[in-house]
Amino acid sequence: MIPNSPAPLDMNNLKEHKSINCSEYKSDKPKEACGVFGIYAPGEDVAKLTYFGLYALQHRGQESAGIATFDGSEVHVYKDMGLVNQIFSEDILEGLTGKLAIGHTRYSTTGSSRKANAQPSIVNTRLGKVALSHNGNLVNTWKLRNELVNSNFNLVTSTDSEMIIFAIAEAVNNGADWLNGTIEALHRCQGAFSLAIATPEGVIGVRDPYGIRPLVIGTLDSNPTRYVLASETCGLDIIGAKYLQDVKPGELVWITEDGLSLYNWSQNSQNKLCIFEMIYFARPDSMMNNESLYTYRLRLGRELAVESKVDADIVFGIPDSGVPAAIGFSQVSKIHYAEGIIKNRYVGRTFIQPTQSMRESGIRMKLNPLKDVLEGKRIIIVDDSIVRGTTSRKLVKALRSAGAIEVHMRISSPPVTHPCFYGIDTDTQDQLIAANKSTKEIAEQIGVDSLNYLSWEGMLKTTGKSSNDFCSACFTGDYPIKIPENMKRYKLMLENNKV
Ligand code: SF4
Repeated sequence: MIPNSPAPLDMNNLKEHKSINCSEYKSDKPKEACGVFGIYAPGEDVAKLTYFGLYALQHRGQESAGIATFDGSEVHVYKDMGLVNQIFSEDILEGLTGKLAIGHTRYSTTGSSRKANAQPSIVNTRLGKVALSHNGNLVNTWKLRNELVNSNFNLVTSTDSEMIIFAIAEAVNNGADWLNGTIEALHRCQGAFSLAIATPEGVIGVRDPYGIRPLVIGTLDSNPTRYVLASETCGLDIIGAKYLQDVKPGELVWITEDGLSLYNWSQNSQNKLCIFEMIYFARPDSMMNNESLYTYRLRLGRELAVESKVDADIVFGIPDSGVPAAIGFSQVSKIHYAEGIIKNRYVGRTFIQPTQSMRESGIRMKLNPLKDVLEGKRIIIVDDSIVRGTTSRKLVKALRSAGAIEVHMRISSPPVTHPCFYGIDTDTQDQLIAANKSTKEIAEQIGVDSLNYLSWEGMLKTTGKSSNDFCSACFTGDYPIKIPENMKRYKLMLENNKV
């Protein structure tokens, strides 16, 4: 039987239904740093535990991933471009045997997106091989590179992470043991670095003296004498490990058969955690300062509602990162929370490589406005940040096409006016919309009826801590770690032309 032909499509009507390419929208966000993981657990399947740890840390980098395991002095490593679940198979993980492992998920902040730059990096030394996973960005890369090239090191990647591992190798080759060699090398590094390092003897975890990037320690539920390191607590939760404590700024953790030892390797440590980790980068189910970041982000939304009241019918967040703040906004403003936009959750993130051409040719994922929810409504959309603002206009247009009669945008962080030098890709200053335009001009450019950012004071108030406890340089230009002039000149090209 031939089925009835469907009614002809109304092409005009179809054109009306606009949607936003999700990968394009995400590309207009600050790019995540990297994820690191480490484990010392003889008798356990360390490769598989690392795999799952990286799986939970996938949001911190989607370009490449890798695992290195140590079986005595023998090292097994596998790394490739792509997502964690695309790179590893059961067969590959079975080949990664050993008593300890480290892993890495990468987004490139120094060095291009290519396989040679995937981590963990491995280098041979007098005491055997050493492997390193790095989250952050050095600010003295060129100085260190020149020193190491002069010492006849043959650099094979274009990453700053390679400088750290070669500096360790140099110290070890000059006679130091793993612990002292690592500390010696750390004193040559300036910038942001949270590290997981694997040696034939044990695993080392390190945070830079400012603790810009997070790193936590956990213990295996099945064996509390076995330790795990992860960029965020979600990397512990997934393998059933219990959170023990943060690695403190300027602290080194040495995990061996004898257990865990802590060393303050820097004499000038201070807390300068990247506040953007709390606002956007880290997963909402990760814990920081004894609460989930979901709870913290609810509070950001509540404060935003206190600061920037507006009459409207519904409020919703841009999925997924704007959702907790939008719920908080709704709680205080008493404006009904409704899902006005749906994200296709069944397709992985598409920007495996960060080049524009690859993004454009990637699979088209959609943020789809819900016409029947938006029709005739005055809406408030909440997001965590605006960086370049290039796709916000498209989003607003799509919401109006779907029937919204007023569109108000609320941002749960202050305007991003300065670039990041510590491992987050927030573009150069000329590309940051808030460095070039006033809030009113931005509102006009993106086509909203009103736009408000959370104030810097409001953002800090929600942390319950002092401004001295965080890096918030992308909002203030007050960089806690000195940036070399040549690096600064390149990114702060508009410094004398600030709005
Ligand atoms: S400059 Fe901004 S993104 Fe970079 S570490 Fe500081 S707060 Fe985080």
